[in-house]
Amino acid sequence: MTTFADLGLSETTLKALQDVGYEKPSPIQEQAIPPLMEGRDVIGQAQTGTGKTAAFGIPMVEQVDPSIKEVQALVLTPTRELCIQVTQALRSYGAPKGIDVVAVFGGAPIRTQQAQLNKGGHVVVGTVGRVLDLISRNALILHDARYVVLDEADEMLDLGFLEDVEKILRMTPNGRQTALFSATMPDPIRKLADRYLYDPVTVKVEAETLTTENVEQFQLEVKPADKAARLVDVLKAERPEQAIVFVRTKVRCDQLNRTLKDKGLNVKALHGDMSQGARDGVMLAFKGGRLPILVATDVAARGLDISTVTHVVNFDIPTSPDVYAHRIGRTGRMGKTGRAITFVEPRQKRDLEAIEKHIGTTIAPWSAGARGEPTTVRERPRRHTKPRVSRNGDERYVTLFARGGAADGLEVADVVHAITEKAKLDGEAVRDVRLLQRFAILSVPAGDAERIARQVSGTTVKGHRLELEPARA
Ligand code: ADP
Ligand code: MG
Repeated sequence: MTTFADLGLSETTLKALQDVGYEKPSPIQEQAIPPLMEGRDVIGQAQTGTGKTAAFGIPMVEQVDPSIKEVQALVLTPTRELCIQVTQALRSYGAPKGIDVVAVFGGAPIRTQQAQLNKGGHVVVGTVGRVLDLISRNALILHDARYVVLDEADEMLDLGFLEDVEKILRMTPNGRQTALFSATMPDPIRKLADRYLYDPVTVKVEAETLTTENVEQFQLEVKPADKAARLVDVLKAERPEQAIVFVRTKVRCDQLNRTLKDKGLNVKALHGDMSQGARDGVMLAFKGGRLPILVATDVAARGLDISTVTHVVNFDIPTSPDVYAHRIGRTGRMGKTGRAITFVEPRQKRDLEAIEKHIGTTIAPWSAGARGEPTTVRERPRRHTKPRVSRNGDERYVTLFARGGAADGLEVADVVHAITEKAKLDGEAVRDVRLLQRFAILSVPAGDAERIARQVSGTTVKGHRLELEPARA
């Protein structure tokens, strides 16, 4: 068994690693640290959660000289979240040696970051756009950045950053040492490595060990219209400590978030269209354990290191087996076990087969079984005679009854949206929405009820004709 001491690290760095609680190097660290310590360029390929940050961060800390007041190392990251995460990790590895790490990223005041750079910073971790911006303002000078890392390089490709990455690389010294870390190695990334890395050592940790050993994987066949309801069943049965629910698009992310909220779950959305402040708030709540369920898109959640995630739900099946591996790599990290449940629509069976082929095993059907029966929302048809009136604050609210429910492909958000649009109400006016299979029940201010029923009835929502009428009690 290899220890960190075997890798020839200094006493100071060994102390830092002891402080953060790393007992022995992970496989990618064991392979990447020695060549990086020798000054070689390295291409490191390993799934998320395998410890890539320390693989490049430990040699970086060893090579930076805190007595020199120049930027000696640069790490480029695709997203702000990763930037902050890498910065925190590098700070912890470099603390005993007195290494200053400055994070620069978009969406935050550039002046503050300029000021931080003015005061010094041996290591800069930044997102591509902001780094270029600071270079053009002469606030960031890379003449002495002899250690350069491209972290999560394949995501930079997804985000269309490669040209800018090349611009930045050209502003660093020719004799620099370059490391490129990535979960996958698509062609353009390989080409970039060919052009900008010198005689690199390639180290690779196979994906399979990560995805199949620590994560129990399940699949669940479900019709599109039933997905939200089934998700609630799954969450109730699994009782996750923390779960990430993956969806395909930003719009679906927002919709599902609202639907789950309306069903009373403590949930928040994370996607690329949210303001940076909102994203930070959500990430902090999730990392701090205050938020049990996160609904996220791939780009927003990839590479995030949250070791307490017990469950991953693929609400929308991933677009490729690689993405599948990334997603379920969010759980079962660093020796813990996790569970991953993938929803498969009838027309998506082929996608599931492709994933099974990739991971080299079949994925078992999910059943609530061991974790208790799922609680399903019962349909309770009503036949009423009098309008039901309730007091809700100062305003009187009455219950309306909508023909159209989950079985028609409707979601709570659709119903609320149709009502607020047609009857020109704000969202707050529609309360207590409960979506059942064939109809929905909701409350609106008593004074507006008749008008709302009249104006909204007959509206087509997702190809379904919505009929609204006062419920009779
Ligand atoms: P990656 O970049 O490959 O996705 P990270 O560098 O974010 O992975 O590391 C994932 C998690 O593992 C982090 O919480 C990190 O602190 C932890 N970790 C990294 N190396 C070790 C180690 N040698 N021993 C224990 N935990 C580690
Ligand atoms: Mg990483």
